[in-house]
Amino acid sequence: MSELADRLAATDARIAEAARAAGRDPGELTRIVVTKFHAASLVRELADLGVRDVGESRHQEAGPKAAELAALDLRWHFIGQLQSKKARQVREYARVIHSLDRDSVVDALGRAADGAPPVDVFLQVDLDPDADAAAEAGEAGRGGAAPSRVPRLAERILATAGLNLVGVMAVAPLGAEPRPAFARLREVSTALRELAPGATAISAGMSGDYADAVLEGATHLRIGTAITGNRPPRG
Ligand SMILES: *Cc1c(COP(=O)(O)O)cnc(C)c1O
Repeated sequence: MSELADRLAATDARIAEAARAAGRDPGELTRIVVTKFHAASLVRELADLGVRDVGESRHQEAGPKAAELAALDLRWHFIGQLQSKKARQVREYARVIHSLDRDSVVDALGRAADGAPPVDVFLQVDLDPDADAAAEAGEAGRGGAAPSRVPRLAERILATAGLNLVGVMAVAPLGAEPRPAFARLREVSTALRELAPGATAISAGMSGDYADAVLEGATHLRIGTAITGNRPPRG
């Protein structure tokens, strides 16, 4: 087996173990391989190993890769910060967008809908403990809507044609224990379901913290380096 195949198999085994430890069925988890900064050839190798769900965070990189690999049966997940002016282009290849965190991007995606099939979207939540206070003070978050802003943003997504709200997404804050942060995300998810009963998915967990995310109900894991190895320097 190649090193890539080894790391993929080892990670999948650890995911299954984490699921069993949480009393969950591994089959209810979607493992997305994050391929940002890697060449299209690596995505092709992953596809040969049976990977279908791949994640990218920058449109200028993801667009050409998706175009080059259009013949493969891949589901592209857009997981990075999305700019309104790129919304239309990202919609063309992304099956799932994990990073909806502001009105302007929701509106831009809505304008880009044009009767195309709806795109699955996650509402990104800022799990920094100070996020609500920062939002109150009018400061823009570094990525993600403050928990107090989630209901309003969710309503806007639900009212926008062409967007299918599937759940919440978050990145654990730097320098803090991930598990309590993922527990907060689970609470936000539970509250959101009052408004949007279909929004049951939770996108959480990266290479360093996916076991904690699985314990707190994550359904979509975004895993890069544990599978791909270290990322090449940013281009
Ligand atoms: C890069 C990235 C990941 C994957 O990170 P790893 O630590 O390499 O697993 C997951 N989610 C987001 C939003 C990312 O930008």
